[in-house]
Amino acid sequence: MGSGLDFFKSNPPGCLDEFDKVYVDDLDVEFDGHGEDTNPIFKLVCKCGNETFNAYGYDWVNPDTNETFYVSPLSAKCTKCSCRNQIFDIKINGYDAVLGHGYFSARGEGDSRGFECPSCNDATKFELFVRFEYTDDIFDEDFTEFTGREKELFTWFSLHGRCASCKTIVDISEDECA
Ligand SMILES: [Zn+2]
Ligand SMILES: [Zn+2]
Repeated sequence: MGSGLDFFKSNPPGCLDEFDKVYVDDLDVEFDGHGEDTNPIFKLVCKCGNETFNAYGYDWVNPDTNETFYVSPLSAKCTKCSCRNQIFDIKINGYDAVLGHGYFSARGEGDSRGFECPSCNDATKFELFVRFEYTDDIFDEDFTEFTGREKELFTWFSLHGRCASCKTIVDISEDECA
């Protein structure tokens, strides 16, 4: 029931409550995910009106492959008023966490690290775009445990940035949430 994207466009999840959000129709990036059609994207705007941020997350090295990933908790600090707010934490946000299933991805601890543009190396100022994937059965009346918290039950999360310096759109972090 209900048209998924129309609902999610105007109902971003609570993890973005501390930000103003602007719905974005399209972003020139390829999304990883489960292949679902519903992938609303929001541009983050600080409550002060500013649209650029420093992004923070954690480096995590996969012990099997030695590959480094940039993982949550993710936060953003406004480059104008300096207020810093959390964007996403795999432990508390998304489908599995909200339904009490736990979390199954790496999560950072200790000191966070400011994200640096991989395209021009040291720039740290970005416009930030958050994308959430939702499955089509979220409004299915058979799943009463979803009712009233549909917007929190996203199955994939990704954070992208447009570098203020080189203008490249870069992938910052993503997590499978279900
Ligand atoms: Zn601000
Ligand atoms: Zn750059």
